[in-house]
Amino acid sequence: MASYKNGRGPVKVDRTQGGATANLRVSSSFKSKTSNVRRGSSGANLDDHVSGRVRVAVRLRPQNAEELVADADFADCVELQPELKRLKLRKNSWDSDTYEFDEVLTEFASQKRVYEVVAKPVVESVLDGYNGTVMAYGQTGTGKTFTLGRLGDEDTSARGIMVRAMEDILANISQGSDSVIISYLQIYMETIQDLLNPENDNISIVEDPRTGDVSVPSATMVDIRNHKDFMELLRLGEAHRVATNTKLNTESSRSHAILMVHIKRSVAEMESDIASESDHSSHMGNTLKPPIIRKGKLVVVDLAGSERIHKSGSEGHTLEEAKSINLSLSALGKCINALAENSTHVPVRDSKLTRLLKDSFGGTARTSLIITIGPSPRHRAETASTILFGQRAMKVENMLKIKEEFDYRSLCRRLEIQIDKLIAENERQQKAFEDEVERKTIEAHKRISEAEMNYADVLEREKMKCQMDYMESIKKLEEKWMSNQSKYGNSGFINGSRGGKGESHVYEDVTELQKMLQKEISLRKEAEEEIHNLRNSQLLWTEAGANADVVKLKKLLDDETHQKQKLEEEVHLLQSRLSQLTCESGQPRYPQYEDQGNGETSSIASIHEQVGLQKILSLLESEDPNVRLHAVKVVANLAAEDTNQERIVEAGGLTSLLELLRSRSFDETICRIAAGAIANLAMNETNQELIVVQGGISLLAMTAVDAEDPQTLRMIAGAIANLCGNDKLQTRLRSEGGIKALLGMVRSRHPDVLSQVARGIANFAKCESRASSKGAKKGRSLLIEDGALPWIVQNANNEASIIRRHIELALCHLAQHEINARDMVSEGAIWELVRISRDCSRDDIRSLAHRTLTSSQTFLSELRRLRVEI
Ligand code: ADP
Ligand code: MG
Repeated sequence: MASYKNGRGPVKVDRTQGGATANLRVSSSFKSKTSNVRRGSSGANLDDHVSGRVRVAVRLRPQNAEELVADADFADCVELQPELKRLKLRKNSWDSDTYEFDEVLTEFASQKRVYEVVAKPVVESVLDGYNGTVMAYGQTGTGKTFTLGRLGDEDTSARGIMVRAMEDILANISQGSDSVIISYLQIYMETIQDLLNPENDNISIVEDPRTGDVSVPSATMVDIRNHKDFMELLRLGEAHRVATNTKLNTESSRSHAILMVHIKRSVAEMESDIASESDHSSHMGNTLKPPIIRKGKLVVVDLAGSERIHKSGSEGHTLEEAKSINLSLSALGKCINALAENSTHVPVRDSKLTRLLKDSFGGTARTSLIITIGPSPRHRAETASTILFGQRAMKVENMLKIKEEFDYRSLCRRLEIQIDKLIAENERQQKAFEDEVERKTIEAHKRISEAEMNYADVLEREKMKCQMDYMESIKKLEEKWMSNQSKYGNSGFINGSRGGKGESHVYEDVTELQKMLQKEISLRKEAEEEIHNLRNSQLLWTEAGANADVVKLKKLLDDETHQKQKLEEEVHLLQSRLSQLTCESGQPRYPQYEDQGNGETSSIASIHEQVGLQKILSLLESEDPNVRLHAVKVVANLAAEDTNQERIVEAGGLTSLLELLRSRSFDETICRIAAGAIANLAMNETNQELIVVQGGISLLAMTAVDAEDPQTLRMIAGAIANLCGNDKLQTRLRSEGGIKALLGMVRSRHPDVLSQVARGIANFAKCESRASSKGAKKGRSLLIEDGALPWIVQNANNEASIIRRHIELALCHLAQHEINARDMVSEGAIWELVRISRDCSRDDIRSLAHRTLTSSQTFLSELRRLRVEI
């Protein structure tokens, strides 16, 4: 069995020697116990190398119906290489990170295999008298309960780990002397509830000070005699879990479900079994010894959804609940870390979950963790954090290091795979080529035989015709002969005279006939020759044709390959140019109204020349909305040109445009066009200040509240984003509601609007950071004050690269200042910074994030606390 047999190279950690885990050990060291045991049908190897290490398997859930539709156009964010025990997490379409696990289970992995690989070794050591734990960790909906708790009522192949473990246990114990007792609990908000008796809803944990054994004496304990009893209890527990959660108005993904199985076995019984198979005399000796009981405890934990740890607080959790969810899961993470690193202190007392598991992981226990993930690129962040949890549990600091260590090996593998692919492709092409030649040859043969048949037909017809003609001539000759006979009598003489004219006439006829015959024969010969020639030339033609076709085909193939290569290079170039451009630009021009044809643009220039700017501006105040609309279009088009901007402002155009936003009768089209013009004017610093002096911020903010059309919102957001880039306007932008207005516009969800909002936030954060560095600004970021952080965190990994880039920059600016760090930690922005410092495809941003994280004391101590390596 390819289970957790050997610690794989990079993750091999021997922890059984260290004294650090002593506080989790029950009594004697693991080593002393291993000496009595080791057998087991699975061949699972509890050797000293790997005994203490948390074994981590990853399981990918297949796409569900919703993902099949929603993600149809996107590649999955993970790729598994089960044979290498590796998982690739895609960063984008050309880059990914690779992680190594003890076991990688694809979406096709059967429940049986998952059990054998993840849980069976643990069950076997529990049967041998150790404590063991199987835990499932992952985002809600990725298959934790599917993996652990499926009963398999209708389909036995669907049975999960709990059911299969119990089957194994029952098959291995002896009914007379051994016992199996279970309890089934749930931890919700740091209270332990009994799933076998819901009234018992605040169970306490008791610890034996002498042995360190943990127990829950007030929990219902049921003696299991057979499989049917167990299934009934599981069903009962599940029903109570649903009922309890409904009563508490929560969902199962917020609680941890824990199945505890206590096994007591009589050693004398076991050893006599073994002895009777081998040596009868030692059996006699054994019976004289006092009986020894061997106890083992198996704990199966279906953990709360891991996304809760990040999302707590953002989805309407109560504060208490959010705290407790964070507490249990992060306490678990910390304990696993401490154990993995031989830390002198393992903080098991931090949560109920870790207290309950105190004697079930590390030390003498064997722990398997299965992390479950889904394939959807939309949940990439959650999947990444799940993988990170699994990696930490394996005590792998950073897989990139491993990549370096194994660089030659993996490069070699990659090349081998490439060669294999090329060989296969070559073979395929060769085969296609041969097939094509064969097809052409068959076709040529077919044509030849067709031609042969045609010519044979013609020949036959010609022959028939000749024969007919010949017969005809004979007939004619006979007729003539007959008539001559009747004329000249039987002797052939006419009226008794011989020879003469009649006779010579017959001779002439015969000669003529002979000539004709000769001619026919030569004609036939010619025809036959022609057939022969034709056949030869046909043969030549078809063969030459086939060869030429093959050559042509080959050339075509070469051309195509060449073309494809060129295109690929071009696509690559374009992709990198595109990503560069999307990051660098982001400040769009606001082209005015596509509804105008080209003709209109030139007519605007001429209207402008003829009527004069002043006059056009005065029309902005016209009573007639139609006139106003046309006037604003003209002004907006003029404002789109840099050269006109100064004149428009001098002539009071900016004031008139702002006036249009102020007017009470809200006309969205006019507002949209006016806001676009203002946005264009707001690219210049002097104009920015003029806009603000004239109350532009609150006017834009008010318009943003009323507007619905995403394009209107985009113009307004663009205008405010431009103002955000001005160092002098920071305080006014905040006090006059500019930032709030920006944040309010995200309701539109339109990517154009969101990218302007993101640009505004990035601009603002940049100016603010500059001011703080100069000492001109004190206190927390105004963006944080105005509540922008949750949106920033939510969108830091937005699918649109332009939005993502702005936000990543904004996060880095905010993180520059220690005063913002507390909020960034509590709102989860630190995780995004960690992600940026690892995953961002732009080197400069990535290293900026890294520098920022490592230069802040607050961040450093938080990362240390959570044992995250950066
Ligand atoms: P969670 O452990 O997060 O609560 P569930 O176990 O409830 O997730 O799984 C969510 C859904 O996905 C269920 O409908 C389940 O049947 C399905 N599912 C999970 N894992 C698999 C799998 N490996 N194969 C098929 N369906 C699965
Ligand atoms: Mg579940």
